[in-house]
Amino acid sequence: MTTAPIGILGGTFDPIHFGHLRLAQEAADALRLAEVRFVPSGTPPHRAAPSVSAADRLAMVQLAVAGNPLFRVDECEIGKTDLGYTVDTLTLLREEAGGQQPLVLLMGADAFLDLATWSRWHQLFELTHIAVAYRPGFPVDTWQSRMPQPLAAEYQTRLMQQPLAVHLAPAGGIVVVPIPALDISATLLRETIRRGASVRYLTPDSICQYIQDHKLYTGD
Ligand code: ATP
Repeated sequence: MTTAPIGILGGTFDPIHFGHLRLAQEAADALRLAEVRFVPSGTPPHRAAPSVSAADRLAMVQLAVAGNPLFRVDECEIGKTDLGYTVDTLTLLREEAGGQQPLVLLMGADAFLDLATWSRWHQLFELTHIAVAYRPGFPVDTWQSRMPQPLAAEYQTRLMQQPLAVHLAPAGGIVVVPIPALDISATLLRETIRRGASVRYLTPDSICQYIQDHKLYTGD
């Protein structure tokens, strides 16, 4: 008997929004996760530096998950100023969880299509399952043709048709979680604020308030 899987959602969260929160909730329900850990990145290796401080991004993630007993924040990456790699974070989380408890790395389809560019990405499958959620612009029905060959090969070998199969082994599988697609991104929020408009209903009210109080994303 294993304990229920832990979901892990890494991201820049610059800022966190309802796309992240729905992904976490849908995955928690579909995969019957024990909890979802939000892991805000320090200085992410794959993209330009976040536009607000790590402390602000962390504070917003903490506010957003408050009140959901399934959601926790893991601060293991946030203080890092060097390139923090997902495989190193997963190694740490695997040590904490022990060998048997299933881990499930949650990500949108956009992130999954990029996976083969991540450092030591093959090793991830020794540490965790991967659950991929729908994201507008990345149609899952045609996406195999958009995968680079090494990723397509892993996908074909590892895809599990039954999402609850993540309970049966600690790591190694890929599942697709069909969530109602929300066309929300942190980029959209940053652009909306920059042109002086409201981000209400794209992210929780507590985050709108935090952004306003701290005058974030106004473009100086
Ligand atoms: P940006 O617009 O700055 O690129 P983002 O909105 O994509 O940011 P990230 O913090 O980079 O947010 O995303 C973290 C994870 O959440 C990624 O796996 C991403 O695919 C997923 N994600 C973000 N928004 C959505 C969404 N609307 N639907 C599904 N998955 C999402």
